[in-house]
Amino acid sequence: MVFRQYFQCLFLVFFMLLASFPALAGSPLKTNINGLPFHWGSTVVFHPESGELKAGVFDHDQSVSLIRDALDQWAQVPGVNLNIVEGETLADGGDTHAGNYTQFYKANPWHCYDNDPSTPCNSPIIFDEDGSIIEDLFGSCSQYSILGFSGFSDVAGDSGDPTWTQLKRGQAIFSGACIAPAQSKPGCQPCNVVLEPEEVKTLVLHEMGHFLGLGHAQVNPDSYLNCHAQGTCTEEIEEHLPTMFPLLMKGAKMLSLHRDDILSMQRLYGNPDAGTCQIKGKVLSADGTKVLRGVEVVARNTEDSQFFTDAFATISGEMSPKVTATGKETTNCLENCGDFTLSGLKPGETYQVCVQRILENFTGTKFVGPADPPFQGVDQDCPESLTFTCQCSGGECDQWQDVKVLTNNQGVDFAYAVSPESPALAAGCSLSHRFTRSFAWYRLAFVSRIFFT
Ligand SMILES: [Zn+2]
Repeated sequence: MVFRQYFQCLFLVFFMLLASFPALAGSPLKTNINGLPFHWGSTVVFHPESGELKAGVFDHDQSVSLIRDALDQWAQVPGVNLNIVEGETLADGGDTHAGNYTQFYKANPWHCYDNDPSTPCNSPIIFDEDGSIIEDLFGSCSQYSILGFSGFSDVAGDSGDPTWTQLKRGQAIFSGACIAPAQSKPGCQPCNVVLEPEEVKTLVLHEMGHFLGLGHAQVNPDSYLNCHAQGTCTEEIEEHLPTMFPLLMKGAKMLSLHRDDILSMQRLYGNPDAGTCQIKGKVLSADGTKVLRGVEVVARNTEDSQFFTDAFATISGEMSPKVTATGKETTNCLENCGDFTLSGLKPGETYQVCVQRILENFTGTKFVGPADPPFQGVDQDCPESLTFTCQCSGGECDQWQDVKVLTNNQGVDFAYAVSPESPALAAGCSLSHRFTRSFAWYRLAFVSRIFFT
């Protein structure tokens, strides 16, 4: 079925007026109170320090190349319009260490948002060669478990003003302490994992994904559990994990972008619906009376060879308007709490829509989707009735609306579930759209825990 989409035309006009302001998104790292994702404008400028990541392995130029190559790899996703610019090296020598990094790290974020060109706006990239900055930030010995992290400084999302969802400042810190040959220190456990150069590239690609506004992705939890059980990912499943998976897995080819990574990037910076089909719907309890937020909905190509690779996910309610800007509880939702949109079905291909829960371990710095802790009230299911073959003609592709996905949730775990008519939520509608000049600093540590402890 092909719908004539005046909505799409509206979307395009909207898109052009507001540059890369997306109307829908997959897995953003952060949304504002109205559910709009934070993302950069058309240009990203980063400012590397003058030092190096690891003597003898990544000198200064190679260290900067790691950053540039990672940002370029994301920017080169088809349909993405993002100009990556290497700005000036950080001032005052710019070789950071534990004694001076606070000149750059978290420094003067308002300079980026005050529209005053005389206040310099820097997005610092810090190479913490010996891990001493990480140790200063997170405590003794932390440099042997935290490999690096990144994020952005944004204007607090409770203003509801969409112009404030455009990012202008990010920052990242990478530690050389656990890059081979690893460092050690008396009294500290050795590195959880010692990184080879390819793994360093994966780490940087993942972190710069966060820098650009991408959140974590799960998509194929069973493949991960298989890798976990085997101690490494076997050849059959090495391509199943997305780069934005919350853990760096031995044997996984996370250095090449998974289809889910590509679509997530397109949702923030392009138009994933161009030339593809789309499914919109709601995730519901077994009796269909309650909507469920925080359930992962996956489209899987029904070809055996592509079931895990041409697979992409969204999470119900991830774009919903919220009661508070930053609350991570599943009930922090005002309306459309079970809604999902899956964009990117390829013409001529058949997909099955599946539901699954986010692994309960993916909490804290490993969180996936809008809710933390993740909703555990559904079991994995791929109902045969939810099979869709994408067809396009004359430039228009199928769009399915109001698709109802019934889960096996019996209403027994409703601490996390949301009823759209609940009086408590109606009371939560008295929102203040007061503009606050505060910053929410967002960061995610990419910890080196290869397996669950
Ligand atoms: Zn991460």
